[in-house]
Amino acid sequence: MNPTRRFGPLDREVVALGQGTWQMGRDRGAAAALRRGLELGMTHIDTAELYTGSEELIAPVIAGQRERVFLVSKVLPQNASRKGTVAACEQSLRRLRTERIDVYLLHWRGSHPLAETVAGFEQLEREGKIGAWGVSNFDVDDLEELATLAKPGRPVCNQVLYHLEERGIEHAVLPWCESRRVALVGYSPFGSGRFPSPRSPGGKLLGEIAAAHGVTPRQVALAFLVRRPALFAIPKAGKPEHVAENASIPALTPAELEKLDAAFPLGRQPRSLPTL
Ligand code: NAP
Repeated sequence: MNPTRRFGPLDREVVALGQGTWQMGRDRGAAAALRRGLELGMTHIDTAELYTGSEELIAPVIAGQRERVFLVSKVLPQNASRKGTVAACEQSLRRLRTERIDVYLLHWRGSHPLAETVAGFEQLEREGKIGAWGVSNFDVDDLEELATLAKPGRPVCNQVLYHLEERGIEHAVLPWCESRRVALVGYSPFGSGRFPSPRSPGGKLLGEIAAAHGVTPRQVALAFLVRRPALFAIPKAGKPEHVAENASIPALTPAELEKLDAAFPLGRQPRSLPTL
C-alpha cells in the first residue's frame, strides 16, 4: 500500500511515497522507471532546476496525465530574488512542458532576503503558475523567520534529509512542522545509496521485520519514515524493479516501530540541520 494523506494545509490528498529524480540520467531506463512509478500510483514527483535533465525527462512521462501528478520543483537560492524566482519558475515550466507546478520550493536558504523570495512565490501563485510554495533544508530558526513574512498556510512543506541513520529532524523540525500543519518531505530515504548493511544489527532487524511481512528491508525502512501523518518520502529509483519495490509498504505494528526506533537511535540534537 501507498497511503494518501493531506499535504500540509492543502486541500489535496497526496501519496506518502513519491519519486525523487536527482541524478536520474536521461536514458530510456530512467523514463521507464518514472512511468512505472506513476502506473503504480507514485504520483508525487520531485524535481528541481538543479537536477540537470530531470525536468526534461519528466515532461513526456507526465504528458497526458498531468492532473494525476503532484509536481514539485525548486528554485536555486542564487536565483531566488523576486524577479529571479519568477524567471526560474517560468523556465522550469517550459522544461516540464506544463502550465503549473503544484508546489514550488526554495531549495535551500541563500543570500537573497526571504521576503524577496516570498514575493516571487506570491506573484507566481496569483498568476496560477504554481499551486502553492514551500521550502527545503530549513531549520527551525529559518522557519520561524519565514513565518513572520508568509501568509497563513504557507509554507506548505519543508523538504529535509531524513533516513533511518539520520533522524536529526525529529528533535525540532518535525515537531515544528506538525504543530503548524506543514508537510515534512524526507529526502534521501535510503541514505542516498548508503542503506544499512544486512549484517549490521539494524540491518538484521530490518530483514526480520521484512520477512514477517513478506516484503524487503527497504520497504520496511520507508514504512518507518512515513509512520506519522505529516511525513512523506521521495525515494529515487532509476530502475523499474527498484521503483516497483518502493511503491508499496507494509503496515508496521507498534512493537515493530518501537524496535526500529531503538535499533536506529535518534541521537543528540544536531547543532545545525543535517543536509546531504
Ligand atoms: P535515495 O532515494 O536515498 O537513494 C537513491 C539510491 O537508492 C539510488 O542509488 C537507487 O538506485 C537506490 N535504490 C532506490 N530504490 C532501491 C531499491 N528498491 N533497491 C535497491 N536500491 C534502490 O537518494 P536521493 O536520490 O539522494 O534522494 C531521493 C530524492 O530526494 C532525490 O532524487 C531528490 O528528488 C530529493 N533530494 C532533495 C534534496 C534537497 O536538498 N531538497 C537533496 C537530495 C535529494 P537506482 O537509481 O539504481 O534504482
